[in-house]
Amino acid sequence: MHAITNSGWVEVITGSMFSGKTEEMLRRLRRAEIAGQEVAVFTPALDDRYGEDTVGSHEGRSWEAIAIESEGEAIWDLLDHLNGEQVVAIDEANFFDSTLVEVCEYLADDGRRVVVSGLDQTYRGEPFDPVPQLMALAEYVEKFQAICAKCGEPATRNQRLVDGEPAHKDDPTILVGAEESYEARCRNCHVLRSD
Ligand code: ZN
Repeated sequence: MHAITNSGWVEVITGSMFSGKTEEMLRRLRRAEIAGQEVAVFTPALDDRYGEDTVGSHEGRSWEAIAIESEGEAIWDLLDHLNGEQVVAIDEANFFDSTLVEVCEYLADDGRRVVVSGLDQTYRGEPFDPVPQLMALAEYVEKFQAICAKCGEPATRNQRLVDGEPAHKDDPTILVGAEESYEARCRNCHVLRSD
């Protein structure tokens, strides 16, 4: 997808939940692997899961990944896990802080292909840092839509539901392990409780 072979670059795969981001990332990684390129995949260490992990899609396909720290200078530890791979993929980029942007820039400057996947919006429909910054700096951005669970139109938003009801606008952005569910919804059907 890139004509210049002597430079690295950043490509971002983004969109709402259930839009096929992870499936698209795995498709790109499989193509690279078929071409004989070495691939390293990273995920944020949430819920204290560190080390070995897998990136799975809703299609049931998966790829071995390394779970790394998601905050601050510790994100640079990603470099310690690299062993000359030309392709570096990062899934769930929205769970990292802005240090991830510097790391991705460093990797691309170092001649690597950096494939980043993550949500572009919070459940409130606001930009979900650091993905918007990565989208601005990337050579390539692809934004996918899901299908609205309410009306069937293209969906760009993440509807958070708590006990089946729309979440409150003042809830924390990231709720790891909470009792909640999500639907992809369009702009019209997206609801934020504000009472
Ligand atoms: Zn809708």
